[in-house]
Amino acid sequence: MESDIKIAQNTKELPITEIAEKVNLSPDDIELYGNDKAKISWPAINRVMSNDKLGKLILVTSISPTPAGEGKSTITIGLGDAFSNQLHKNTMIALREPSMGPVFGLKGGATGGGYAQIIPMEDINLHFTGDMHALTSAIDTLAALVDNYIYQDNSLNLDPDRIVLKRGIDVNDRTLRKITIGQGSKFNGVEHDASFAITVANELMAILCLATDINDLKKRIGNMLVGFTTNDQPVFVKDLGFQGAIAALLSTALKPNLVQTLEHTPALVHGGPFANIAHGANSVMATNLALHLGDYVLTEAGFGADLGGQKFMDFVSKNLAKKPDAVAVVATVRALKYQAEKSTENLANENLDALEKGFANLDRHMKNMAKYGLPVMVLINQFATDTPAELAKLKELIENEGFTCEVVSYHDDGSKGGVEAAQKLANLADKGGDYHSIYNDDDDLKVKIEKIAKNIYGAANIEYSEKAEKQLEEIKAMGKDKLPVIIAKTQASFTDDKNQLGAPTNFTLHVKDLALKNGANFVVVATGHILDMPGLPKHPAALDIDVDNNGKISGLF
Ligand code: ADP
Repeated sequence: MESDIKIAQNTKELPITEIAEKVNLSPDDIELYGNDKAKISWPAINRVMSNDKLGKLILVTSISPTPAGEGKSTITIGLGDAFSNQLHKNTMIALREPSMGPVFGLKGGATGGGYAQIIPMEDINLHFTGDMHALTSAIDTLAALVDNYIYQDNSLNLDPDRIVLKRGIDVNDRTLRKITIGQGSKFNGVEHDASFAITVANELMAILCLATDINDLKKRIGNMLVGFTTNDQPVFVKDLGFQGAIAALLSTALKPNLVQTLEHTPALVHGGPFANIAHGANSVMATNLALHLGDYVLTEAGFGADLGGQKFMDFVSKNLAKKPDAVAVVATVRALKYQAEKSTENLANENLDALEKGFANLDRHMKNMAKYGLPVMVLINQFATDTPAELAKLKELIENEGFTCEVVSYHDDGSKGGVEAAQKLANLADKGGDYHSIYNDDDDLKVKIEKIAKNIYGAANIEYSEKAEKQLEEIKAMGKDKLPVIIAKTQASFTDDKNQLGAPTNFTLHVKDLALKNGANFVVVATGHILDMPGLPKHPAALDIDVDNNGKISGLF
């Protein structure tokens, strides 16, 4: 089979105005970025958001990610095409926009694969409509304004050593994890330690993904915690008056982006927080807009169902116009064998024992999703190396637990690779369920953490570091101890240790650090060893990427 980029480049796109028309958006409703990308205009957003129509919402999540690949985006896009072109339903896809940093690091983008992709894939994976650059500029402008305030004024006595805001860049650069700024002459500002997080991990990304309009964006930016004064008082962005300028920098980025799949299904691709260190879903603006435009909306939460899935259910969905109607959990034979074997070496060989052993991982994820009261269906993403016996065995294991399941081949066959599966999922979404969250909104932070750790991860105990206990007290003193929690954890395991595969039980979850994200309105709870600035591998994907004299890019995926 051809590479993803070749398949994408060989597909003739429809003008984006025609894609917009499919969901009743006129050429006046969209702002063109070339012929194949557009932002939805504010008048159109405001008009569409005020209609009372809300389509069915289907969340796509998965088993724990492995180097063997799971294919959530591929399946979300394939399902969207199957709903649209095989079931002839008015469908929209809502996905995150990729972070550029990882594109040059480990191979793998966020535009799907094979015959289930969104295009133009090079643009979407690189600069797209400039949202990531706008965010990076906003993050660093805010940081510079804060440092300038300390240098020029500082009547509030903001302590330069207790600034919690980080700088940002959309590059995997481990050398920026800890730096010192303002070195040299006193005219270079006040010297202090600082650090960079990748753009998508910054609170401003979370805010962009949660804001419902420009006023809400501005209010949330104003509420961001900057740091503490020398006598321990919190300082917020609104105390310094920078929220208007930062909102102005982000106002264009707040408008969702419209693109198409290889089969011309409309897709809103907007906002991209990671699901291990942030909340892991595309923007509330895009999902709500899609719900007002389409009868069926397919959206994806990052990493496994314990990370993006749990966060979507307990946090993101409470910010949306409606709760999900059904959940699809993506699994692969290869990844489940990897859960048992811990190696990619023999994944192409049939191994029913490893599959049965590795099934424990899927079993916990699908049962976890069912705890939210919604219908859950498992989609087996078929790879060329899967044997008929393995596919039959996995289907049997899933159905024995009372779950609906289908094998799909959207990657190789496009929308025709799972018509029956799409129909079953549509029926489940039509039936809907009785959504309930795993925790109560008024539970204390520790209770929320415990409910997630025990009910979703399978932990027996939670251990707090001294630092985390102190931070809990600080958050409580600010009256913020009932906020939602976003647990930062390795995506590879239900535990906080990336080497514990399968479905471990009887383990302790180690809470190392808590951070109030007051503009996003949640508390990030860091467990184990989790980094908000990735590094590059020994052989970065950058070594395989090139561009010819006609501007044609190769080697992306
Ligand atoms: P996720 O969203 O879970 O990170 P993606 O959908 O981005 O996964 O897929 C990751 C990679 O795996 C992509 O390069 C895609 O082409 C590949 N892939 C997905 N499904 C299949 C499949 N069935 N066969 C072969 N490759 C696949």
